Amino acid sequence: KLHNELQELRGNIRVFCRLRPALENENYSSSSIEIEKFSDETGMQSITIKRDSKQHKFTFDRCFSAQETNGDVFSEIGQLIQSSLDGYNVCIFAYGQTGSGKTFTMLNPNDGIIPSTLNHIFLWVEKLKELGWVYEITSQFVEIYNENIKDLFKENDADVDDTGESLKFEIRHDNESRTTHITNITVCKLTSREMVNRMLRRALKMRSTAATVANSRSSRSHSVFIIKLDGYNTISGEKSTGTLNLVDLAGSERIHSLQPQAERLRETQNINKSLSCLGDVIHALGSADASKRHIPFRNSKLTYLLQYSLMGDSKTLMFVNVSPCANSMLETLNSLRFAAKVN
Ligand code: ADP
Ligand code: MG
Repeated sequence: KLHNELQELRGNIRVFCRLRPALENENYSSSSIEIEKFSDETGMQSITIKRDSKQHKFTFDRCFSAQETNGDVFSEIGQLIQSSLDGYNVCIFAYGQTGSGKTFTMLNPNDGIIPSTLNHIFLWVEKLKELGWVYEITSQFVEIYNENIKDLFKENDADVDDTGESLKFEIRHDNESRTTHITNITVCKLTSREMVNRMLRRALKMRSTAATVANSRSSRSHSVFIIKLDGYNTISGEKSTGTLNLVDLAGSERIHSLQPQAERLRETQNINKSLSCLGDVIHALGSADASKRHIPFRNSKLTYLLQYSLMGDSKTLMFVNVSPCANSMLETLNSLRFAAKVN
C-alpha cells in the first residue's frame, strides 16, 4: 500500500537498471560494480561503479543484479502490463550500449518481456471473459532506421505495393481520439498462440545478433513492438483501449570513427539525436509542470510515433541495460548518467 502511494507521488515514469552477467571469456572485475538494495520505505536501489579510485553511485526504482533472471524482471512489471488491459498506454524501453542485454531483456524466446507479455495477456483475456470483456488484440512491429520506418512484419523484405511502387510509412495522429497509426503498415490480429509464436520467431530473427556486432543494422536501429488492446464489455457496454509499446533501442555507444563514411556518420547522428530527444521528452514529461511545458515530441520519429503513449496518464518504464565488462565501463557510466537524468 505504502509502495503504491509512493509510486503515485513519483508520477508515471520508472527507471530500472539491469546488470547482465559476464559471458564466457569476458574480462570483468567483480569488485568494480556493486548493487545495493535499500530497505527504507522508498524501496529505491542503487548501483555503484568503481573506476580509477572514484565511486559513481546511481539510484533507480529498481536495480537487477547479474543473478536475477528474466522471470524476476517480469514479476516486477506484470502490473504495468495488466494496466494496458484497463485502457492505459504503456511504453517500455531498453536503453544501453550494444551487447548490454537489451534484446535479451525484451525478446529472449519464452521469457523475454515481449513473449511473457503476450502470454500474460492471453491468460488474462481468458479470465476477463467471465466478467463480460471481449478483447481484440492486434500487433505491429516496426523498425526506425535513419529516421525512416520499416515494417518488420512484412513477409518479403521489399516494401513495395502490388504495382511495384515503394510504400510510404507515415505517422498519422488523430488528435480527437488521441490515437496514432502508420500508413501501409501490417497490422496482425493476434487470434491464437501459434500465431503469436510465429510472429515472435520472426521478430527475433530480425532483431538478434551476436554480442559484439556493434555495426549491424539491428544495433543501429530502434524496434518497436506495438500491441493494441481494444476491449468491450458485453454486459455493461464499457469500452477500453490500451496500447503497449515495447522498444528495443539502438545501441547508445559513442561510435569511434573507425569508419568515417558518410553513411555511418549519418546513422550515428540520427541515433544520438533520437536517443537524446527521447531523454528530453521523458524528462519533460516527468517534471512537475509537464502539462504547461512544451514537450519536443516532433524532434524525432520515435517520440513522434509514441507521443500519445507517452503523454497524459500513460505509464513509462525505461530499462538501462549495463555490461559488467572492464572495457565497457566508460559506456556503462554514460548509460547510467543518461538514465539518471531521465529519472
Ligand atoms: P544488446 O541487444 O543490448 O546488443 P544482447 O541482448 O544481444 O545485447 O546481449 C548480448 C549477449 O549477452 C547475448 O549473447 C545475450 O544472450 C547475453 N545476455 C544478455 N543479458 C543476459 C542475461 N541477463 N543473462 C544471460 N545472458 C545474457
Ligand atoms: Mg540487440
